[in-house]
Amino acid sequence: MKNIVEFFRNIPRKKCSKCGNDIVEQADCYHNICDNCSHPAI
Ligand SMILES: [Zn+2]
Repeated sequence: MKNIVEFFRNIPRKKCSKCGNDIVEQADCYHNICDNCSHPAI
């Protein structure tokens, strides 16, 4: 069971350069920002 955790930990995850949240890999991201920051919410 530990191997699974280690496996995911070894995966290089993108982090939002704005808020620092983990970016879920979906399609190719244009920038290093998460979906939250990419939308002009505020
Ligand atoms: Zn963000």
